[in-house]
Amino acid sequence: MKKNNYIYKDNESDIIIALVGNPNVGKSTIFNALTGLNQHTGNWTGKTVSSAYGKYTYKEEDYILVDLPGTYSLNPSSKEEEVTRDFLYYNNPNLTIVVIDATKIERNLNLVLQTLEVTKNVILCINLIDEAERKKIDIDIETLKNELKIPIITTSAKNDNGLDKLKNEIYKYSYDLNLNPKVIKYNDDIENSIKIIQNELNVFLNNNLSRIISIKLLSDDSIIESLYNNLNINLLEERNIIKTIKNEQKKYENIKKEISKKLILESERIFIKSVKITNQNYNTIDKKIDKIVTSKKYGILIMTLLFLFIFWLTINAANCPSEVLSNILFKLEYPFYKILELIKLPQIIINPLVYGVYRTLSWVVSVMLPPMIIFFPLFTLLEDIGYLPRLTFNLDKFFNRACVSGKQVLTMCMGFGCNACAITNSRIIDTKRERLIAIITNSFVPCNGRFPTIITLIAIFFTSSKIKSSIILTCIILFSIFITLITSKILSKTILKGKPSSYILELPSYKKPQITKIIIKSILEKTYNILKRAIIISAPIGLIIWILSNNYINDISILKYISETLNPFANVFGIDGVILMGFILGFPANEIVLPIIIMTYMSESTLTTLDISSLKTLLINNGWTTLTAICTLILCLFHFPCGTTCLTIKKETNSLKWTIIAFVLPIIIGLSICFIINFIYNII
Ligand code: GDP
Repeated sequence: MKKNNYIYKDNESDIIIALVGNPNVGKSTIFNALTGLNQHTGNWTGKTVSSAYGKYTYKEEDYILVDLPGTYSLNPSSKEEEVTRDFLYYNNPNLTIVVIDATKIERNLNLVLQTLEVTKNVILCINLIDEAERKKIDIDIETLKNELKIPIITTSAKNDNGLDKLKNEIYKYSYDLNLNPKVIKYNDDIENSIKIIQNELNVFLNNNLSRIISIKLLSDDSIIESLYNNLNINLLEERNIIKTIKNEQKKYENIKKEISKKLILESERIFIKSVKITNQNYNTIDKKIDKIVTSKKYGILIMTLLFLFIFWLTINAANCPSEVLSNILFKLEYPFYKILELIKLPQIIINPLVYGVYRTLSWVVSVMLPPMIIFFPLFTLLEDIGYLPRLTFNLDKFFNRACVSGKQVLTMCMGFGCNACAITNSRIIDTKRERLIAIITNSFVPCNGRFPTIITLIAIFFTSSKIKSSIILTCIILFSIFITLITSKILSKTILKGKPSSYILELPSYKKPQITKIIIKSILEKTYNILKRAIIISAPIGLIIWILSNNYINDISILKYISETLNPFANVFGIDGVILMGFILGFPANEIVLPIIIMTYMSESTLTTLDISSLKTLLINNGWTTLTAICTLILCLFHFPCGTTCLTIKKETNSLKWTIIAFVLPIIIGLSICFIINFIYNII
């Protein structure tokens, strides 16, 4: 029997506890509180979704806690849900904790009932009990216990309340739960069919698993593959069993619907019996806000204004620190040079280190750091208060018209931070076709590595007014969304034909933002990681540029030689060879495209600071016009994804073909737009 177990027990006696729950119920908070820093991540064989598992000891017992991916259901419609289902079905945890949100019991109960169909060893943890109290939601725990017949613990994990009780309950029940929890009983016909199939399966499976597998087999055949993959049981070879299953399936018109309806009705009944909402105004403020924020009339307008505000604040607030940083770093160049001289490094090393590596890094840090420190927290704030699902709601219909999933909005938004991360997150999209489209088009929205280039070019060539810059930037973003939609539609009608899938979009209640968490998450994690990557990649590139610009072929620097060779081709698209070379050499990371262009020009002349006016002079002296700036901006939006993103695409799609398409498509789009603009400009 093939075992899908990826957890490494230190001792056979380790007790495995699975943590299951809808997304955002506080599962990770509980997991972190219980396991502290003792955590690892693991992948199932053949699955790209990773899960964290951690260890803790309580009353001398060792526990392994597995934080399974958040899931709404055990009827998987995404890789995450499949991982969770497979773990519960085939890994046999000693105990399963289902974590639910105390303010959304009705919807969460569905997962509880589904879990009880798989295992009897379940403890229910009702988390966010503080929120429920605040919203005056009164939960009758005793009634709930009588209904479900499992232990129930209430917690407020964020405030560290109830976690000791939870540990104790786990300790109490992990060996011998000996419970007889609620079993969902379907109507007589269905129960009869389940029994008939179950009788056949009992040879291979234990009683609990054979019941749930029988229920699934009644609905459709998809579970057959999972049985083979996880337990090496090939039902397709068992002709009699397949015949029995087909016979039973035939008896029903839409058994899947009947089964899920039963679970929903049961959840509803238990909810009504055990939960009272004394505050009639509960959720009304959210509803009032949503009426405006998600309305047809104002939804898109509010979204545009919000983007405008974020960009305005980013540009406004980043400008000054950017200049200060640039001045400081450039002033430090000379002392740095002197120090290297003092430690007696040879000139042949000092020059490339100072004028190659140090200068490029100074540029990257002074231009990238300030906008990131402002943009990321603002964007995380939108995420934290719960605006992103509203944005998805507003844009859903546009994406549906482009024949793709509305969930692509979320991956697109993540792309503003980092395209590679967004591509990993495209797993939230249920169908392979829509996931591929989301992956291929993700790099159309500028990631944080490209924002500084766009902002700088706007400031140099279009306007010095911050508000006008923000408007232009917003238009650029809307344009990139527009091209995303058009390309998605074209892909949906050609190589990735299909209809948009439907999904339930929940609008979670608005949350008070957790400012410290936002700052830690956005500055310490995102900004630090992106800047670190940019620095690691820019340093060698700075060195290469210096070497290329200080070594000569026929009295012309190699850099100039390359750029002049590229010139005739680049000119067709309204740019010059240096810009084209910048994009090509910038393949490892988008943030170094503009530094490469500037370094190349600077290798001809020297600059002491990199403020906007000296940059403008440098670019204009090298033949830049407004047309050059427009074409560079277009190419900044639409060129091949960076190296990390390409690797991620290959990993996620597991296909060279789709990686190549994702690489080539944006270049074709970018160059075509530039060609047209250049053509029209030249005619006029
Ligand atoms: P997961 O998606 O289930 O892993 O949820 P997380 O652990 O990431 O928590 C989602 C959000 O709920 C975070 O902002 C947590 O800080 C917050 N949270 C978790 N537990 C509680 C709680 O008991 N009370 C409140 N008010 N917030 C909580």
